Amino acid sequence: MTLRVGIVGAGAAGIGAADALRDADADVTIVEKSRGVCGRAATRRKNGCRYEHGANYIKDPDERTEALIRDLGEDGLVDVEEPVWVFDADGEVAEGDDDGAHKWTWTAGITQLGKRLLARTDATVRRTTRVESVTRDESAATWTLTDADGGTHGPFDRLLLTPPAPQTAALLRATDWDDGRLDDVVAAVEDVSYRTIRTFVLHYPFRESYPWYGLVNVDKAHEVGWLSREECKDGHVPDGESLLIAQMSPEWSTARYDDPLDEAGDDAAALVAALLDDDRYADPDWVDDQGWRYALPNGGVDADALAAVEDAGLFFAGDWLVGEGRVHRALWNGHDAGERIAGSE
Ligand SMILES: Cc1cc2nc3c(=O)[nH]c(=O)nc-3n(C[C@H](O)[C@H](O)[C@H](O)COP(=O)(O)OP(=O)(O)OC[C@H]3O[C@@H](n4cnc5c(N)ncnc54)[C@H](O)[C@@H]3O)c2cc1C
Repeated sequence: MTLRVGIVGAGAAGIGAADALRDADADVTIVEKSRGVCGRAATRRKNGCRYEHGANYIKDPDERTEALIRDLGEDGLVDVEEPVWVFDADGEVAEGDDDGAHKWTWTAGITQLGKRLLARTDATVRRTTRVESVTRDESAATWTLTDADGGTHGPFDRLLLTPPAPQTAALLRATDWDDGRLDDVVAAVEDVSYRTIRTFVLHYPFRESYPWYGLVNVDKAHEVGWLSREECKDGHVPDGESLLIAQMSPEWSTARYDDPLDEAGDDAAALVAALLDDDRYADPDWVDDQGWRYALPNGGVDADALAAVEDAGLFFAGDWLVGEGRVHRALWNGHDAGERIAGSE
């Protein structure tokens, strides 16, 4: 019997699951609220530049990540060569302890990970479709999704939920399933908290050279949490221009999350100029931003509570299951879930 699999979310975890199911006897449908795929590993294009305003790159501390990335095709693959340095609360910049791991993206952007993985599957992706509720048909042992426009998707024999924990918890609260275990699952998922990050994209009509690609605030006491030079990625920024990615600290980001871009962007640029000790950075010629309410999970979930409902065909995946906001960890967590789903045929 062909297994009908529904996946909510086309981030690294959802796509990883679809990839793991590509050789199984499964009919896979991914329902994604955004226009694009790859979730928080996101790429945007503006004024001739291309930039990553969520995850900056995919690190590969393990051989299987590198093997998978190379397997997707080396055309346009970018390994950022310049290292990541560090700075402290006083803005003191120092050489970092670079572990020499690859920092992968693509000239066409980090979303190539999702696009290339999906291209080798038969999965159907329904974009711009926000799932609002889930219904269980106990007699048929299936799941059906209802979206924000009232459309339905399914029935599915297996359902995999991959949105960040607070969004998954909202979906579970809107799940019509009369099973005593659901409360335990909701409680476990609600327990996972996230750090918020507001990213600013600062463009300048000049380019300076530095020995680093990125600067990370190691004592977590500076308003800027991360600063990087998008021009270090081939094909992202035209010659002679520079584009800085400033990810503000969770405290700053939470306090200034809803402030207008011109106001908050001016303040962020001033902090960047002070950090780089160069006044020119206080005056970018254009600015963009993105708020990530659920940027990085603070810890993992009680996995036992979630595993307890897999026999009803309900599965979960994402960075919040491993407790670390990393693209490759979400991807492999989704892959593992996909393998368990394939094994549950
Ligand atoms: C600013 C920032 C910087 C980061 N830097 C790095 C980095 O340099 N390196 C690194 O490895 N990682 C980094 N990360 C973390 C990394 O991006 C994430 O850990 C990873 O992308 C998570 O993948 P995921 O599939 O678990 O979740 P997501 O990517 O969040 O995917 C979940 C998907 O579900 C969709 N969705 C949510 N609700 C619904 C719904 N109701 N209906 C339909 N679809 C829905 C979302 O639109 C999304 O596409 C960073 C993250 C942020 C925000």
